[in-house]
Amino acid sequence: MTFYVTTPIYYVNSSPHLGHAYTTIAADVMTRFQRLVGTEAFYLTGTDEHGSKIAEAAEAAGEDPQAFTDRISQRFRDLLPLLDVENDFFIRTTDAPHKAFVQQVAQRMYDKGDIYKDTYSGWYCTACERYYNDGELLEGNACPIHKRPVEHMEETNWFFRLSAYKERLIAHFDANPEWIVPRAKFNEARGLIDQLEDLSISRSSITWGVDVPWDDSQVFYVWIDALFNYASALTYAVEGEDLSAKFWPPTVQVLAKDILKFHSVYWPAFLMSADLALPEQLFIHGYLTVGGDKMGKSMGNALDPFPIIEQHGPDPLRFYVLREVQFGSDGAVSQEGFERRYDTELANDLGNLVSRSASMLVKYLGVDGVAKVPAVPADSAVRASAEATIATWRAQMTELDLSGALETVWVFVRELNKHVEDRAPWALAKDEANAELLATTLGELAEGIVTVAHALSPVMPSTSVKVAAMIGVDAGALQQWSWGIAEGRDVTKPSPLFPRLETAKA
Ligand SMILES: [Zn+2]
Repeated sequence: MTFYVTTPIYYVNSSPHLGHAYTTIAADVMTRFQRLVGTEAFYLTGTDEHGSKIAEAAEAAGEDPQAFTDRISQRFRDLLPLLDVENDFFIRTTDAPHKAFVQQVAQRMYDKGDIYKDTYSGWYCTACERYYNDGELLEGNACPIHKRPVEHMEETNWFFRLSAYKERLIAHFDANPEWIVPRAKFNEARGLIDQLEDLSISRSSITWGVDVPWDDSQVFYVWIDALFNYASALTYAVEGEDLSAKFWPPTVQVLAKDILKFHSVYWPAFLMSADLALPEQLFIHGYLTVGGDKMGKSMGNALDPFPIIEQHGPDPLRFYVLREVQFGSDGAVSQEGFERRYDTELANDLGNLVSRSASMLVKYLGVDGVAKVPAVPADSAVRASAEATIATWRAQMTELDLSGALETVWVFVRELNKHVEDRAPWALAKDEANAELLATTLGELAEGIVTVAHALSPVMPSTSVKVAAMIGVDAGALQQWSWGIAEGRDVTKPSPLFPRLETAKA
């Protein structure tokens, strides 16, 4: 079994913001989890670089489109190490092998009779780069996303026979009720199939794009070019090797709801026409909102991830976006919200647990400042709880309930803190008669902390390594969880994990 995850390719008409970071982080967390449980994984992200909007933006910047897309695409690529994202490939739709792939696939669809010439007219939003039906527009013929007037356009171009795939699409939805999650998005997508119209897939008005191989007066319009990136990437991500047989189709494609229709209707129909297997699942995540507005590429309201990363590194941001907003739903994020989570959960709940546990180990069991983590009896209640935590966490991560999995870990973190209070090692240490219970308690805390570090590692990779190191457990040993990893390890005086923000400000 393999795991292949994709993010949408990001459109290079704007700079990266937290909305992009969110999708990219989520897919990275899924990938790291799969690797942790021993599955071979491939993670694809990249940039979408064609279309009239890019050509216009390049012209406005006084650059040719290739130089412009080189520059902006690099900004998206630069974001990945900042977020500690381990993608396997970064695709650009201006890559020569991608363009050749699109032409080859489209030729196949054309030869099959799925592509024909016709004249199209309709309401076009240049910001969305798509047509809208009358019924979809807001008052005053405005785009429902951008809330500004659309233009009436008419042109002759190539059409994909989308309507011919209606029955097959319906059959696919009926046979695969989990192929789009959450359920509400499945239903929404299923509803779109009832009114299928053929789809315009080329433009004569655009020059910055992939040429239609049988008609040099036209280039492919954004979707057929962009969507096939998920397939083309596997053919050239590794030089001299085609990974398609190993990884196609995608296990999960992560996207936001604004591109649901393209991925849930057009994309499977394109794949059917091209005789390629369909993705196993689309996961539609919600929007991070700021003051009630979607954090989108054409909106100027983004919460800036860069200062947060600069101050704290990527882990607290990765943690915050998945913890604050239920993955799959919309939710508000803010600088205040980030600081609150950081202080209460990272500095207090987790940071204190680790530092006081390690300190007590050294203080009560240390010899010359080094303590050996004691063994824990098999009937330990903390052990039972750790095993249950890992089982639930694994199931939730497998089902892509990333926020639920974090909550499961946090319930256990709080339980460990309560265990400290209940057992009060500082009181036990006063009486030699309690030596065994003291050792057991400190052993339970050490094993519990390693359990937390393991389960947090997909979300907070460097933090989890630091946490485990404080119990004397190295990164390699953290890869595979079992109760007892900490036993016998050397613990020394801890260093602070999360300096408190309040202290930093004071
Ligand atoms: Zn629009």
